[in-house]
Amino acid sequence: MHLLSFLTSLVIPHHCLLCKNALKTKEQSICQICILAQARCSKLDLIPHERIFSTVAASFMCALINTQSAKQLCQNLKYGSNHFLAIELGHSLLGPCLQSFYQKSSKKPFLIPMPISKRRRKSRGYNQSEKLSEGCLRFIRAQGIDATSINLLNKTHHKRSQVEFGPFDRWTNPKGSIGIRKEVKQRISENALLVLIDDTVTTGSTLIHASKIIRDHFPSHPLLILSLALEV
Ligand SMILES: [Zn+2]
Repeated sequence: MHLLSFLTSLVIPHHCLLCKNALKTKEQSICQICILAQARCSKLDLIPHERIFSTVAASFMCALINTQSAKQLCQNLKYGSNHFLAIELGHSLLGPCLQSFYQKSSKKPFLIPMPISKRRRKSRGYNQSEKLSEGCLRFIRAQGIDATSINLLNKTHHKRSQVEFGPFDRWTNPKGSIGIRKEVKQRISENALLVLIDDTVTTGSTLIHASKIIRDHFPSHPLLILSLALEV
């Protein structure tokens, strides 16, 4: 056994999170059979959210519907200290969604993970949306598509943002918590497809909030909201 995989086997279970069967060499956290067995969103499932997100001129795609196993996966992403699972799901589930969208737009995808607070990142050890983006990017690049992932958005401390934002911003940005990294903004090209990545979507209010901020800075770029699962 390779030393690294021996060491990781001490901390990462080498059994599938869902079916508990032993994982094959290249599988991480979940087996390919369980990934294939997950219930996918149909066009009908997406309609309510498509309507909500059309208010910020964004398209919407989501891989999984709300099932018990999707819930289990999402909880593990956040609280299971399992960033390998996030990379795997980003690769196997978000990657193919983005590929199909890319085929219609042919613009270079810029993956933008939803930010989490520093405090959360510290307790969780990682941002699950960043890891989903990482996996998605691996899949997309393996298809020969030029793409990149950038941390365009940041989550700032509530008190600080209340001081920094004016009255209008306080109203449109009630939590005062998501901002744009100006130095990163400059790296986004004219020919970019902006892809906002998140793990779950419930009411969509946080995603709308983040999308509005992106729209303020990029009024005419195509924007895709890409989420792993619905309402979990
Ligand atoms: Zn399995």
